[in-house]
Formats: sequence, structure tokens, C-alpha cells
Amino acid sequence: LESASFAFSPSVGRFPSKRFIFDLVRYQPGGVSRADLARQTGLTRSAITAIVNQLLESGFVREQMQGYRASNRKPVLLEINPAKGWVVGIDMGVTHLAIVVVDFSAHPIAEFETPFDITLGPEKCLDMVNDFFYKTLENAGLQPTEIMAVGLGVPGPVWLESGTVCSPPIMPGWHNYPIRKHLEAIWKLPLSLSNDAELGALGEWAYGAGRGEKNLIYIKVGSGVGCGLLLNGRIYSGARGCAGEIGHTIIIEGGPTCSCGNSGCLEAIAGGAGIARMAREAIANGRRTQLDTMNDLDKITARDVAAAARQGDLVAQQIISEAGVYLGTAIATLVNIINPGQIVVGGGVAQLGDLLLEPIRQSVETRSLLSCRESLRITAAVLGRRSSCMGAVVTALNLYCDRAMA
Ligand SMILES: [Zn+2]
Repeated sequence: LESASFAFSPSVGRFPSKRFIFDLVRYQPGGVSRADLARQTGLTRSAITAIVNQLLESGFVREQMQGYRASNRKPVLLEINPAKGWVVGIDMGVTHLAIVVVDFSAHPIAEFETPFDITLGPEKCLDMVNDFFYKTLENAGLQPTEIMAVGLGVPGPVWLESGTVCSPPIMPGWHNYPIRKHLEAIWKLPLSLSNDAELGALGEWAYGAGRGEKNLIYIKVGSGVGCGLLLNGRIYSGARGCAGEIGHTIIIEGGPTCSCGNSGCLEAIAGGAGIARMAREAIANGRRTQLDTMNDLDKITARDVAAAARQGDLVAQQIISEAGVYLGTAIATLVNIINPGQIVVGGGVAQLGDLLLEPIRQSVETRSLLSCRESLRITAAVLGRRSSCMGAVVTALNLYCDRAMA
């Protein structure tokens, strides 16, 4: 297994390595002192000093500038050295492509998003990704040789060993295509390939709503519906990378047909296509809604429904609320099985905030066991549409650090 997909776990080993200490600095915003590190690891001050000196010499961390004076008793804080280098995170969605270039402290220095169509297949899509990658670097004033590693997220189950996707329902034509090998060969850079919902969990855990939460589930509600499981501080991908396919839980027997071939799946009901279908049905049933004024009803998208809901359209709000109830039904089962500390709802549709979150919360409350949800928080993704991209950044930094500190 590739350790690049693992989040930092406080229980790794009895003798913390350089990499472990680095992660402690990395995930404590605001900096951490040598004394803090000694306390957190149980190591002696001299052992910490030795490891920190190595990290300082190799430029991984630096001492925070804080107008330090000899008389100032405040300890010097350590932080990630942003000037060490750059990595790129890419989120390849079904209908969007997002890319971010960050410095070594994961601070974005350039980011872009463009419409995308994953159904065009691997050759055309990866050509687009390639163009976009070079254009973004150009905008950031960087050469490809200055990039340390790339993290890429895709909306399907990923086989880490081969760097491919496995029968992804919403990625027709991509099965077994050597995505990682293809891009590594063009860019001559190490690349980490992951499922986008797993990256969402990682991104929100590292830099967003889920900081410090060891048991977190990220639910991606966009064109597809999927979830990323962070259990005991680690991403759980399952035996073949397929864990978290909550979108293909059957919610309505004999319901609408899903991209997977079944019918009544959560994705077919509460995903982008499902929301658009509910809107068309409402109009066909003569409901009064501003969506009715659109010229071509077949072109109504979840984005239109979300926009109308935000503007106060009652029918659109009802549709979003209904999608929330169905999402909550599937999430309640997950809550009973996993007993997570936090559920973070992200993805395009989730940008609606409480319009979607409230029905989810109520649905989970009525359908899950009290003991399983007692300490549960259900929140919106803090990074918004960027959760997966920032998760890709985490994997890219992991990939570089795993190799550099091996
Ligand atoms: Zn399905």
C-alpha cells in the first residue's frame, strides 16, 4: 500500500521518526515549540532537538520570525518552511477540473477551475489536464522542474498499486487506463492518484472543518455522490479501493435508473442528475417555480435548482430538502455502522449550506441510534469546492516527504 494516502496517525510507532515530527509541525497551525513536541511525543528534549536540527538543516521546517529577543522568554516556534518548494493538487470532477499550486506550507499561490466532461474518455481528458497543468504553472511563474509532486483526484474507485480506476460508473471508458503512468511519463514528476471523496476527507481533516478529528466521513454531493472515510486518523479505502460508495445504496426500490445499472440508488435521487430530474417532474406537474421560465427544460441542472433555491424559490428549496432527507437516510446507516465523530458535507450541491444540511441533520436524527450519533457533528465543508483539491495537495506533499525522508 502507498503510505501517501494515509493521514498522520498519532499512534504510529513508539519511536517517532523525522517524518512523524514533521507531521506534528505540519498539522498544528500557528507553530509548535520544541517543548510542545517533547510533551506530545514523550521524547526527551535532546532527542527532539536532534530531529528538529535535521529538519531545519534540510529546509523542511523553519523557526518562526517573531521579533525574538534574548530577554523574551517565549519559546521559539517551529513551522513548515514555505520556501522549500511547490506541489500541485488537481481535482478531476465529472463536470469540472480544478487545480491548485501551493507552496510547501500548503498556501495556494495559483488556482483555477474550468468546465470539464469526464465522459470524453481518458485520452481527451488527460490532454486537457495536461494543457491546464502547464497553463497554471505559467501563471504561477513556475517551471515544471520546480514542482516536487502532484496529487490527482478522480470520481471513481482507485487501485493504488496500478494507479488506475476500476469500473467507475460515471467515468465510462476509463477502466484500467494507466492514468498515473501516463501523466508521470509526460510530467516526469511523482504523482499520487486517489478517489476524490477520500481526498475531500483528507483536505477537510488537514485544513478545513475536520482538523484534529480522528473519525471523519466526508460526503461529496455533486454529479455523483460518494464518501471518504477517515477512520482512526487514516483513510480507509477497502480491499480494492472501493470503500465509501454510499451513492449506490438503494434508497427507493424500483426508483430512477442509476449510472451503475441499478435503480433507486442514492446518487440517482440526490446527485446532480437526480435533483435536475426532480425539477423537471415538478414543472411537468404544473408546480409554480422560476425554473419553469427556462427555455429548454432538458437543460436544467442541479446548479440551476441550487441557484433558484438560494433566491427563495419554494419548489427548488423543497427539492433540495427532499434530496437532503434521502442523503440523511443513507448517512444514518453509515452513522450506525461507523460511529463517526464528524460528518462533513461537501461538493457542488453542498454549497447551499443549511438548505441542504438541516434536512440531512433531521433525517439522521430520526433514523440513527442515539448512542451512535450522540457526539456527532454534521457540518458543511469549510474549503467549499476546494476540499478535494486540498486533499490532493496533502497526498502530493506526503509523496514528496515519504521519498525525501526515507
Ligand atoms: Zn447506482
